[in-house]
Amino acid sequence: MSDIAASLSTIKARIAAAAAASGRSPDAVALVAVGKTHGADAMRAALLAGQRVFGENRVQEAKAKWPDLRAEFPDLRLHLIGPLQTNKVREALALFDVIETVDRPKLARVLAGEMARADIWPDCLIEVNIGAEPQKAGVLPDQADRLITFCRDELGLRIKGVMAIPPADRDPQPYFRQLAEIAARNGLSVVSMGMSGDFETAIACGATQVRVGSAIFGSR
Ligand SMILES: *Cc1c(COP(=O)(O)O)cnc(C)c1O
Repeated sequence: MSDIAASLSTIKARIAAAAAASGRSPDAVALVAVGKTHGADAMRAALLAGQRVFGENRVQEAKAKWPDLRAEFPDLRLHLIGPLQTNKVREALALFDVIETVDRPKLARVLAGEMARADIWPDCLIEVNIGAEPQKAGVLPDQADRLITFCRDELGLRIKGVMAIPPADRDPQPYFRQLAEIAARNGLSVVSMGMSGDFETAIACGATQVRVGSAIFGSR
């Protein structure tokens, strides 16, 4: 078994154990394998091991890496988990099945326009700057409900949930809990949180989707 297949199986076992510890089924938590900076061969190894859901940070990198893989594995699902500029929206819609980083009204408007033009309506998540950190992307927590309502009810985007990265070097638990609360009070089912270093904590706080890169593919 390749290193990647072995790491994937370890991560899946850890996800299942963390879900069970919270009284949830292992199927209640999806694994998004984050491939950024790793090449197509690494992605193929994960695909051959049965992984089908992947995340990429950058539109350009995804464009270079994923179209051939998609031809080989038509059932894969690709999530955009990095910042999206409005001038990249058209390309992003051609590449990604889920946009996890809707974080401002202007981007939401451009997305809605391009989705209508292309008639493709991918699932979207609202990215929340859960620690209200100045350098970070994401809508501020106290504006999240408004952005969700605007995107869903006025623009017709398929908003399925929320996504966040808590502040580094702090206990992530209160931030994870707050993100899960934002999802719950808005009736959203997807809570995307938790990375290589903290996905078990995120699952304990209600993550339905974890985004794991280095623990599968190695350091960057
Ligand atoms: C890189 C990245 C991840 C994965 O991080 P690891 O620590 O390598 O697991 C998850 N989410 C986002 C948004 C990322 O940019």
